[in-house]
Amino acid sequence: MSALLEVEALSSGYGPVPVLREVTLDVPAGTIAAVLGANGAGKTTLLRTLSGLLRPTGGRVRYDGADLRGVPVERLVRRSLAHVPEGRGIVAELTVEENLRLGGLWRRDRADARRAQDEVYQLFEPLARRRRHAGHQLSGGERQMLALGRALIARPKLLLLDEPSLGLAPRVAAQIMALLRRLCDNDGLTVLLVEQNVRSALSVADQGVVMSLGRVVTATPAAQLRDDATLRHAYLGF
Ligand code: ATP
Repeated sequence: MSALLEVEALSSGYGPVPVLREVTLDVPAGTIAAVLGANGAGKTTLLRTLSGLLRPTGGRVRYDGADLRGVPVERLVRRSLAHVPEGRGIVAELTVEENLRLGGLWRRDRADARRAQDEVYQLFEPLARRRRHAGHQLSGGERQMLALGRALIARPKLLLLDEPSLGLAPRVAAQIMALLRRLCDNDGLTVLLVEQNVRSALSVADQGVVMSLGRVVTATPAAQLRDDATLRHAYLGF
């Protein structure tokens, strides 16, 4: 069976500055791929290119069997691909509740969207308490929860997550990782996860994709990267 996301020799950059250099990776449906690597390795640029915010300068991306090149971002959302950028992605002027409702806009089944919203409140209790507060009144951690919650309400097939645990208490970060695993196992969600906390990412991921200077230097089973000290030293430096 082909992977939900197939990336082949993908290159992109900012204006004339090349950043991604022929990145190739496959993410099978229902799995988590953790994208790891030092600051500036190109992880965020990879997510931006996949979600259509940056135009590829070469290579191709197939999502759910279709070529993504040239597909506008709003079509991607309808095709159930959600991108949660690092520390952003919420509307600061709208309340928590309004932001979450935005996540459900694409859903035809209103009752189901409502249920998904209640689930988010159960999961992220601070959001339930602050549902009438505006986005700009939230702490960094609460904004992260809101951005992730909003994306989950849209019930994406593929979630592109940039640093979801940034600014969160370790307990909440661990809950998020566990939640992602559960959604993959139970609902077939597929996740491309950029995470600074390598140990925590590898603890839930199926695959570890290590990037350096815009290239993928290795893509191996996450368990292998987690347990093999030689591999870890070579690719992650610890
Ligand atoms: P980090 O963890 O620091 O976010 P990263 O692996 O996500 O690192 P990117 O943010 O993708 O790395 O950055 C890769 C390269 O692209 C870096 O050299 C960075 O300086 C450059 N870059 C990032 N954003 C821009 C931009 N808007 N304009 C020009 N260059 C950029």
